[in-house]
Amino acid sequence: MKNSQDNFIEGIGNTPLIKLNAASKITGCNIYGKAEYLNPGGSVKDRAALALIKDAEEKKLISKGGIVVEGTAGNTGIGLCLIGNLKGYKTVIVMNENQTQEKKDALKNIGADLRLVPPKPYKDDGNYVKIAGRLAEELKKTNNHGVVWANQFDNTANSKGHYETTGPEIWDQTSGKIDGFICSSGTGGTISGVSRFLKEKNKNIKIYLSDPAGSALYNYIQNGKLKSEGGSITEGIGSSRITANFAEAKIDSAYSIDDQESLPVLYSLIENEGLSLGTSCGVNIAGAIRMGKELGPGKTIVTILCDKSDKYNSKLFNKEFLKEKGLPYPNWL
Ligand code: PMP
Repeated sequence: MKNSQDNFIEGIGNTPLIKLNAASKITGCNIYGKAEYLNPGGSVKDRAALALIKDAEEKKLISKGGIVVEGTAGNTGIGLCLIGNLKGYKTVIVMNENQTQEKKDALKNIGADLRLVPPKPYKDDGNYVKIAGRLAEELKKTNNHGVVWANQFDNTANSKGHYETTGPEIWDQTSGKIDGFICSSGTGGTISGVSRFLKEKNKNIKIYLSDPAGSALYNYIQNGKLKSEGGSITEGIGSSRITANFAEAKIDSAYSIDDQESLPVLYSLIENEGLSLGTSCGVNIAGAIRMGKELGPGKTIVTILCDKSDKYNSKLFNKEFLKEKGLPYPNWL
């Protein structure tokens, strides 16, 4: 059998690099996006989901009939649920109720047990991540096949997954001729794993964080203080704290990117390059453009195309919503 797989999990990773033409032209650099939206669950988080489940299996914490519990902005939940379905694990997902309906539907439609909670800061006991941790403890009492809290924020199996796959793929795909890598951080798994791998290969490769407005990480990288300003309609990225995964990242510098800057990048990619990408990609690519301008022409820069726009239709293509917020909207709406 040619080009066949035993199961869909084998299709996670090994995504292509796609040249971002406008970003490259504006900067005189070669800017590439790693097409993580091509993963079977539709996002970069399939890699984390697989790494977290493998970690639990290696530690013999779960067997068929067991439950994976996780607090997620959605994408990790989708990955965990799909992998869980194949392996015979149930998936319980705790998510903030302010995430898009599209992500809630996606999770419900694949059979996740979705628990929506009001958004609360991390320091509050009602924060979705903390609820997920407590729920896993609770469920352990009634399930003897193993109940695992995946804990993507502070379980460094997440960044290890990127260190072992995403980082080496980027190094190979660029034949080591890479000058810069930039992406945003949610759990920090991607930027931590990729930065550690690339810096080990060549410490001169610049690693930048592209942080959405409203996140405290930009100020943390630039002046050591966790302080946030403004806000953003992006989902799945930004943080008010240093997670265990982010703590291991090797980051040289950071940009703060607001929606006014990132949304036109997304709309231009749809209109001119046929790429319809999710909100975090706007932050990543706007950051890559700034990085290209800073490093100068001729450089090769890679960023992450985390997911597609389809999970954010009710925000990205909702003219009333965007107008109300004073944000740009596509001229074809
Ligand atoms: N983009 C999207 C759309 C995401 O869902 C996430 C993860 N929540 C990220 C980016 C950030 O990836 P990481 O958790 O590896 O930092």
